[in-house]
Amino acid sequence: MTAKSKAHSDLGLATDYRPLELEKEIREFWENNQIRDKLELREKDSKGILGYVEGPPTLNGIPHIGHARGRVMKDIRYRWKTMQGYYVPFWAGWDCQGLPVELEVEKLLGVKNKRELLERVGEERFIEECKKVILKYHREWVEADRRLGVFINQKKAYWTYRDEYIEREWQYLKRAWQQNLLEEGHYVVAYCPGCQTSLSSAEVGYEGSYKEVEDPSLYFKFKLANSQNEYFLAWTTMPFTIITDTMLAVKPEAEYIKVRVGDELWIMVRQRVEPVMQELGITKYNVTENMTGKSLEGTKYDYPLKDIIPKQAELETKHPLVHTVICEDFVDVNTATGVVHLSPGNGEEDFWAAQKRGVPIFAPFDDEVKFTRDAGVFNGVFARDTDYLVVEELRNRNAFVQVKTVKHEYPTCWRSHHKLVWLARKEYFLRTDKINKKVLEAAEKIDYYFEAPKNRFISFLKEGKPWCISRERVWGTPLPIWACASCGHKRIMSSKAELMENALEKIPENFELHKPWVDRVTLKCEKCGGVMRREDYVLDTWHNSGASPYARFADEEFGKFVPTDFLTEGIDQTRGWANSLLLEYVILTGKPEGPYRSFLFQGLTQDAKGRKMSKSLGNVVEANKLLEKYSADLCRFYMMRKCSPIDFMNFDLQELNRRSYQVLSTLYHLSRFFLQNAEFDGFKPAKNLLKSWDKLSATLQAPDRWLLSKLQWAITEYTDKLARCEFNSALAVLEDFVIETLSRLYVPMIRKELWTDDPETLERRWAIYAILHYTLKTVTLLFNPVTPYLSEALYQNVYRRLDQKLPDSINFESWPEPNENLRDEALEAEFEILFKCTSLVYAARQQAKLKRRWPLSTVIIVAPEKVSNTLRHVEPLFLELTNVKTAEYAQQVPEYVAGENWISASEGEVYVFVSGHRDETLLGEGIMRDLARRVQALRKELGYMPTDVLDAVHIAELDAESVGLLGSYLEEMTGLVRAKKVYLHGVRGEVKAEWHESELDGKKIYITIH
Ligand SMILES: [Zn+2]
Ligand SMILES: [Zn+2]
Repeated sequence: MTAKSKAHSDLGLATDYRPLELEKEIREFWENNQIRDKLELREKDSKGILGYVEGPPTLNGIPHIGHARGRVMKDIRYRWKTMQGYYVPFWAGWDCQGLPVELEVEKLLGVKNKRELLERVGEERFIEECKKVILKYHREWVEADRRLGVFINQKKAYWTYRDEYIEREWQYLKRAWQQNLLEEGHYVVAYCPGCQTSLSSAEVGYEGSYKEVEDPSLYFKFKLANSQNEYFLAWTTMPFTIITDTMLAVKPEAEYIKVRVGDELWIMVRQRVEPVMQELGITKYNVTENMTGKSLEGTKYDYPLKDIIPKQAELETKHPLVHTVICEDFVDVNTATGVVHLSPGNGEEDFWAAQKRGVPIFAPFDDEVKFTRDAGVFNGVFARDTDYLVVEELRNRNAFVQVKTVKHEYPTCWRSHHKLVWLARKEYFLRTDKINKKVLEAAEKIDYYFEAPKNRFISFLKEGKPWCISRERVWGTPLPIWACASCGHKRIMSSKAELMENALEKIPENFELHKPWVDRVTLKCEKCGGVMRREDYVLDTWHNSGASPYARFADEEFGKFVPTDFLTEGIDQTRGWANSLLLEYVILTGKPEGPYRSFLFQGLTQDAKGRKMSKSLGNVVEANKLLEKYSADLCRFYMMRKCSPIDFMNFDLQELNRRSYQVLSTLYHLSRFFLQNAEFDGFKPAKNLLKSWDKLSATLQAPDRWLLSKLQWAITEYTDKLARCEFNSALAVLEDFVIETLSRLYVPMIRKELWTDDPETLERRWAIYAILHYTLKTVTLLFNPVTPYLSEALYQNVYRRLDQKLPDSINFESWPEPNENLRDEALEAEFEILFKCTSLVYAARQQAKLKRRWPLSTVIIVAPEKVSNTLRHVEPLFLELTNVKTAEYAQQVPEYVAGENWISASEGEVYVFVSGHRDETLLGEGIMRDLARRVQALRKELGYMPTDVLDAVHIAELDAESVGLLGSYLEEMTGLVRAKKVYLHGVRGEVKAEWHESELDGKKIYITIH
């Protein structure tokens, strides 16, 4: 027993597919044999280079399942293209600076705002803390990649905070500066009072930043100058902006009227009179004079708060249009009153309206968005906290009409969720509006795989606004612009060496390109000899990562790897990385080209119920925690198989172990089945696997040729779908091939041939092994990008075990190419009909409760001639699959099948009829042959040689009916199984032996041999 079962227990594959154990072993195998490092050496022998730049995750949190999904897509592309013979610089990268990291550290330090941060913590320590935090999260990310089997090269990672990276990022700014695309400007920007920094317009539209908030809804009136009872009626949801009010705007061609309410006349647009009066609850009013908007232009009004904001009175003396009506086309006459109050210090359109008329911009705010002394009595109050104070002041001055509250969608900070405020500030801008045409041209050349995300991206790019890149923060790439305190002259720096050369004082040892050290460097003004100091801004973090194509490489690498072949990130990166990469690259090269040739935008990942994953809901699936308990291959397969990469995916742990497990486990067991049989029969791939299928074709039978044909189709389809990033439908092809074609259809057709150990049929068995070897190995290679652990395990334990000359790892193998000579579409069509008719026979049997094992005498096929002819072609196989002795064909239903002994099943134009008559001789023979096959399989499994004659075969717990039918065939059976005697037992207890479980018609039976 021990010697005989050696082959069995020694098999490299455990009886069950246990992915967690298997993955641990393979991970160690990869690490001990430096498989990933060796792939890095293959650049010279590659058939080409496909550039890649990692979209750097921000190191401000731990990786969750959504990140894992994106990383798997990257890894699939890498492993696939590598097997195709390309070299891909699949190197990691980390986004280390900026607001997201700063806020994470503020939280850890228990600091509420920037002022507190600078006073309590200080810049130097703050920066050290930021570095600690990114290192902490870095460990988590590397571990997640390791568990997930993501083959990204961690040793070659780039870090956006390192001096060498910053220096190369500065090169972009220098290019922009040279093209006059980088400039300081006084613009209205979105500003977060919590983070105390401005945001780019891309960030304002960021996923999830619009929230429903409650604001005042205020109607107010400004009295016309030189009039006793005429007023302009206006509306706002931000009463604090009345403090900075400078003008009113009307639409020139619209019709305005005066509405008499009590003793007063209110001016507003005609079409809004009824709804506004209704909202104000005013029923007694009448409409008097009408006029065009144009005729109101130049009308002066009394700004009501001049007594408490003296600066407003002063502004009137500075420009004649202050507190005057102007005409603007942007005025919307379909909402509110059609009279718009303008605060150039707090609104983008308002700002431009003032700017083009030379009207001064009144923006009396400090960095915390508190009003300054210029705002008079409101000095020191946070802007949004003055809303109701303003209402009261208006009320005291007969300028108030009504206040209610309104719930509306309003942009909040994507990091801290404070309500954003629009403020005119001095900032630095990349004038990307000037190069918008080139950017759009570049964007059109890129392949996005799917229409919807492409349209979304292009329409965002069309907005083409200037990009505010300056941030009033600490932990970031410093803006490398120095300005002269005396004459205002500015100079841009682009390297540390240049700084050292030009510095007024010696630069200290611990100097790094960060605040506060970089702020201590002063330069001498070339123009006037004055002292130049750095403009105190850091860069938008999106600028950091957007610089990666140039900043992460050395010059030579940049030439080789950029533009990159393929990038992929979440759909939220439409406004993020995909955008900043493109804008910066067009600036860098001056050409209408992107740094990537294709970009896949991934859908986001949600919880099982379709809710967004968030800390507050507690439904975030952390990658490392998940992968401690669940197989990486299963997660990878499940996530890729479940839906299209651009779909929102609902990640459901319950589903993980169902279909995904079934697919991978089936491949595992098929491979094990092959290995077990092949080893028993001494199959040697090098010797038995004929290089040319033509030579083998003499021993190939129809099912073999059918399988080989289906395999070629699967290779082509799968590869095409991978190329189109349709991972889910690509995997559907493989899944169907493994589960249906191979496991459910092909293996049952050849299994019986493998049960025997007859030397006379050894050649045929070798042919089957050659087919299984080729097919299963091909499938294993195709699976490798998606399930790298299972594929490597099968590669090592099946294919390298049979042939030690194979490469060290599956990752050094070549991607399977379809062999068109093996494709036979006519045969595939024949088999389609064969399987259809076979399943009809099964259906008929089931109706009449005729077990498949019971041989039947006749089947009649009533079908169109084409179907019948096809079936005749494969009739022996059809009869074997259906376990019927003869087949008859007809165009019409014969009369004699009308009797109750015939059972039929049909689909479309095809009918089958089987005779329900049970022939006891046939039944007995059927049972005997079935049992004999099971005994033969057991002989093989236990390692008996074909020449060994068994002393006895014992079969236990066969049902009484079968025992009865079998009686006269026992003698014949002893010959078939090469045994001296066959015994039948009612229960196992009758013989003390090691019983082997088997089954007959779904019922358990037990066999032992010796
Ligand atoms: Zn914020
Ligand atoms: Zn100067």
